[in-house]
Amino acid sequence: MCRAAIPRARGVTRTFEGLLATAEGLHRIHDNADKIGRHRGVCAGPPDRLGAGPMSDACDGHDHHHDDGEMDGPDSPLVRSLAPSPNHDARKEPVSLLIMHYTGMKDGMAALKRLCDPNPPRVSCHYVVFEDGEIVQSVAERRRAWHAGIGSWHGRDDVNARSIGIEIVNPGHEFGYRPFPEAQIEAVIALAQDIVGRNAIPSAGVIGHSDTAPTRKQDPGELFPWKRLAEAGLGLWVPPVPLMDGPSYRQGEEGPPIQALQALLGMAGYGIQVTGVYDALTAAVVTAFQRHWRPERVDGVADASTLRTLRDLLAAR
Ligand SMILES: [Zn+2]
Repeated sequence: MCRAAIPRARGVTRTFEGLLATAEGLHRIHDNADKIGRHRGVCAGPPDRLGAGPMSDACDGHDHHHDDGEMDGPDSPLVRSLAPSPNHDARKEPVSLLIMHYTGMKDGMAALKRLCDPNPPRVSCHYVVFEDGEIVQSVAERRRAWHAGIGSWHGRDDVNARSIGIEIVNPGHEFGYRPFPEAQIEAVIALAQDIVGRNAIPSAGVIGHSDTAPTRKQDPGELFPWKRLAEAGLGLWVPPVPLMDGPSYRQGEEGPPIQALQALLGMAGYGIQVTGVYDALTAAVVTAFQRHWRPERVDGVADASTLRTLRDLLAAR
């Protein structure tokens, strides 16, 4: 395991390249030592998080004459450790979204290794937040990390080009989805506030991965405390309307009410066509909406509570 402390100063990581090339450990940030010391102790902590590879020139895309993509240091003072991923490229749009994910793997270490793996399919994320609240940065915010994949929000695709991504360690629906610990949520909120403030991301731009890719993704899931984030000024939120009797629509139905539902979901930001047919895509989008804004029942059925919550959300914008 590499315990080398990497000073934050520009270019210094380069001089450590030989070391990093064989490093088995996470690269602690030397001049954050006061923070590390308060939190866990510089030298007394557990084994470093990961065997991260170097930020290789061979892996950083085609623009390294202008920007080699290296992290000179953390973008946020809340970051405790760097685990550089080689998986990123040049940003071509300004940042306007902050995307919340869960890792969906058995543990955080496995997820961090995956996010730094140079072998395909290559993925990455700007930040990983562990269950104890430790924040690791993997990709510089100015770079386009590969966390969101195919999807859209408010009619625009290439979500990666205009977003910063936070991976929150949780096994997810596949490996035992569970509530996010308090320390983790506090860290996510603090980090998100810092990111949103520095990048001038609008409140409504804080969304979940499943919002951008409803047919493929479930994260961060219905246990994610969006209300807590909203109370901290992050994301749009309205109180979910309680389950109630009333009009309800489901997959297979057709007609003007379905058209209206699809139009409203599109106004909220979801990638959906107004066809008047409650198809599988519509059910997936309703499911994604429920995970985020009406989590009491996540079933893809546009019941009266879901419809009213959607209207309240649109009215609150
Ligand atoms: Zn995700």
